[in-house]
Amino acid sequence: MSIDIRPENTPPGLEGTGFFATSLDKVVGLARANSLWPLPFATSCCGIEFMATMAAHYDLGRFGAERLSFSARQADLLMVMGTISKKMGPILRQVYEQMAEPKWVLSMGACASSGGIFDTYSVLQGIDRIIPVDVYIPGCPPRPEQVLDGILKIQELTKNESLRRRHSPEYKEMLASYGLE
Ligand code: SF4
Repeated sequence: MSIDIRPENTPPGLEGTGFFATSLDKVVGLARANSLWPLPFATSCCGIEFMATMAAHYDLGRFGAERLSFSARQADLLMVMGTISKKMGPILRQVYEQMAEPKWVLSMGACASSGGIFDTYSVLQGIDRIIPVDVYIPGCPPRPEQVLDGILKIQELTKNESLRRRHSPEYKEMLASYGLE
């Protein structure tokens, strides 16, 4: 049985029944976006909301991201959820540094993004003070729908990012501002 694949916006002459031509970076972007391996760095209540996102009703697996990785070296999406104390900051940064490129960071909830209600001496007032963040999810806690929306936004980034992201001057400059290489 032949399958008629007719994607939108293809240049004329480059598609037909069962095939289409595209560029390598688009194929790689598509593969990356639909096979994210998240590392859940969950410290408090937002982590529970993430568990609900993983469970059957919301089913993060529908987006190809159900394979959680608890090894930084096998993850490409760092999901930070919960209150991060200043004492925990260096550990979070070490986890980020251990992840191989390409990698992305999702900050879930008010605590991870800004310290939330914990405006105290011991709480980090936003993880972007120590590591770069790609997408922020607002809320205390965010609902699973918002988490899914955050994942979709990360997918948009991964689909459209250059294969050579790591070597671009802008990316190097951004890392340098965090004292990273
Ligand atoms: S943002 Fe709210 S729900 Fe999430 S960890 Fe902080 S206090 Fe808990």
